[in-house]
Amino acid sequence: MSVYDKYEAVIGLEIHAQLSTKSKAYTSDSTEFGSTPNTNISPISLGHPGTLPRINKANFEYAIRLGLAVNADIRHENQFARKNYFYADLPKGYQITQDKTPICNNGYITLFANTENEKKINITRIHLEEDAGKSIHDQDPFNTLIDLNRAGVSLVEIVSEPEISSADEAYEYVTEVRKLVRYLDICDGNMEEGSLRCDANVSVRLKGSKEFGQRTETKNMNSIRNVKRAIEHEIKRQIDIIEAGGKIEMETRSFNAVDGTTFTLRSKEQAHDYRYFPEPDIQPVTILNEEIEKVKSHLPELPNDLFKRYTNDLGLSAYDANIIIDNKTSALYFNELIKLTTNYKAAANWLNGAIKSYLNENAISIEDFSIEPKFIAELIQLIQDGKISNSIAEQKIFPEMTKNPTLSPLKIAEENNLIQESNDDAIVGFIQQVFDENPNEVSRYKNGEKQLTGFLMGQLMKVSKGKADPKKANQIMRELLEK
Ligand code: ADP
Ligand code: MG
Repeated sequence: MSVYDKYEAVIGLEIHAQLSTKSKAYTSDSTEFGSTPNTNISPISLGHPGTLPRINKANFEYAIRLGLAVNADIRHENQFARKNYFYADLPKGYQITQDKTPICNNGYITLFANTENEKKINITRIHLEEDAGKSIHDQDPFNTLIDLNRAGVSLVEIVSEPEISSADEAYEYVTEVRKLVRYLDICDGNMEEGSLRCDANVSVRLKGSKEFGQRTETKNMNSIRNVKRAIEHEIKRQIDIIEAGGKIEMETRSFNAVDGTTFTLRSKEQAHDYRYFPEPDIQPVTILNEEIEKVKSHLPELPNDLFKRYTNDLGLSAYDANIIIDNKTSALYFNELIKLTTNYKAAANWLNGAIKSYLNENAISIEDFSIEPKFIAELIQLIQDGKISNSIAEQKIFPEMTKNPTLSPLKIAEENNLIQESNDDAIVGFIQQVFDENPNEVSRYKNGEKQLTGFLMGQLMKVSKGKADPKKANQIMRELLEK
């Protein structure tokens, strides 16, 4: 047993999700990403004296959507507080946040909804706050540049209970959160651009111990994979220190993606005292039950519900279901497709097989896929009716459809003479031709080399240019050979 096996990890994640509202939390400034620096600003987001923040109601609706999706309690009386600190990218000198009255409490996210060992991770709270600006350290060799476009953009912070017990579970949790915010259309979930950011609180303790160890908090992971790498490193680092007789210091650390390590950013000695106090410029915001009910009635079908429906009602495998659900647009496409065919398995196979490969090979996202579900449904029907074979559909017709998305697959099949021959006489004709051309193989078959049917069927597909209905042809050929 390695020393690492003596320990268990305790992990709690704080996720900041930038809300995709059009304007910022307290001003009408645009929130568009990638605008010229310092153009999406106003006296309010710059914190000029005498300016007053104005509430953007969309923030509340977005946060309620998320709260309902994670089964949280929604607070009716929302207060705001000032979190005071000095930093160059925070011109006001304070951030407006919710401190003691988060808009949501007591939610949960279900992990591994696809297996028996389903696990719930409780969410302590979700609160609204505003983002700070961005300090840019790598563009000018002598100065730090500041872009205040982000200052005042709305965020929700989602704080989990310390119930995540491995780097893999953390990966799963962030994946679920990202999927959820995308399904809910409240955040684009883009970690590279910083619209979704995750801070990982990690501690370790001896297995069976009741008390938590000292935790560290690691920031600056720009992908879900890096969240996992950072946590893996942090667990090992902490165990190594404890095993060497050392002590974990409470500190904030940063992740280095190049070598997968973490390093100290600031220690406890420099810990902030934010001197929270109630925000005097914003009245408490009351959320009525009717408003919550209205948001609830507009919630989309969520990933876990889709998963249950696909696996329980449609009989898809967990594997297939997860690939479809992974992306909201592909789930929507699938939902359209299964309104038009009841061959759910075939629908999943097309979406996760030929369509996915085509999209990958051409670096197209499903949003820009040009073939309508009705034509994929028709293609499935043609195969089911024995009019075309699966391989003709995949190799000849589907590629043609991608080039001519307005042509129906039946039309393509007819125009290219690809309709399958299931007429017995025609098939017998093809078989006779194969027998005539391969007399040796036929007599060897008759002498007991039964595996030669494979070869003969191959020849038959060649002779018929792939148009002979393989099931029928196989059956007739065996009958003729056994005569
Ligand atoms: P802070 O403002 O100090 O970061 P928060 O309460 O906002 O405190 O967040 C604390 C986060 O750390 C939560 O996600 C919580 O689950 C997690 N956490 C608390 N204690 C531990 C611990 N001992 N080990 C790991 N994570 C912890
Ligand atoms: Mg924290």
